[in-house]
Amino acid sequence: MKEGIHPKYGKAVVTCACGNTFETGSTASELRVEICSKCHPFFTGQQRAQAARGRIEQFNKRYGKKG
Ligand SMILES: [Zn+2]
Repeated sequence: MKEGIHPKYGKAVVTCACGNTFETGSTASELRVEICSKCHPFFTGQQRAQAARGRIEQFNKRYGKKG
């Protein structure tokens, strides 16, 4: 087995620009990303949409208003 072809593969701490950190498997020990699953528009957008729907439903239930 030639050296350098199979670098050490272990856990890496990924630090996102949003401040979130998580572990992943990588040959590097530290990684920096600008977008992670916590701040990616796809995920945050879905979460916000769900939260907004829940609030609107609560509001309509409480006050019986439509639209
Ligand atoms: Zn992030």
